[in-house]
Amino acid sequence: MSPITHFLVGWSALERALPARRDKALVALAGLAPDLDGLGIVVDFATRTLGLPETNYYQDFHRLFGHGLAAALVIALAVAALATARRRAAVLAFVSVHLHFACDLVGSRGNGPEDIWGIWYFAPFSTAHEIAWSGQWPLVGWQNMAITAVLLVVVLRRAVATGYSPLAIVSARADAALIAALRARFGRHSAR
Ligand SMILES: [Zn+2]
Repeated sequence: MSPITHFLVGWSALERALPARRDKALVALAGLAPDLDGLGIVVDFATRTLGLPETNYYQDFHRLFGHGLAAALVIALAVAALATARRRAAVLAFVSVHLHFACDLVGSRGNGPEDIWGIWYFAPFSTAHEIAWSGQWPLVGWQNMAITAVLLVVVLRRAVATGYSPLAIVSARADAALIAALRARFGRHSAR
C-alpha cells in the first residue's frame, strides 16, 4: 500500500497504546520503514536521467531487505533506542511492521492479475518461502482508496477527541491549528 495508508494503519491501530507522543510517532513511522528498501528507485531514476551505467536497485532490493523478520527486528531495536517506554514501543513497532506486511499482502498488486507481490519473510537470508495471497488487489485499486479515506476519518475523529494529530510530528503549530479548526467544525466531544 502507499506510505500514507501504511502510516494511517499504524497510527490508528497502535497510537492509543502508547502514552508518550514521541513513542506514538516512532511506532507509526516504524510502519513506513519497510519501504525504505524501495529507495533504490531514486538512484535508478538518477542514473537513467544522467546517462550513467544503468542500475536496477529497485527491482533488486525492494521487498528483499525491508519486508521480513530481520527488518522487523532491526526496526524494533531502532525504536527501542529512541523511545521513552522502550520495551512497549519496541514490541508495538514490531507489530506495526507486520501490519505493513499484511497490508502489502492484501493490496499491492501490479497492473495484471499475475502481478502479485509476495513477501519473503526470511529474506535477505533466504527466499525459499514466499508468502502471497491470490486475492491481492491492485496498489491503485479502489479498496486502498476506501481504506485510506476511512482511516483518515478515524484518525481525525480521534484527533478532535485527544487534541493531538499525527501532524504534530511535522509541526506543533500546524497541528494546533488543525485541531482548532476541526473542533470548531465538529465539536470537541464528537469522538468520545
Ligand atoms: Zn511495503
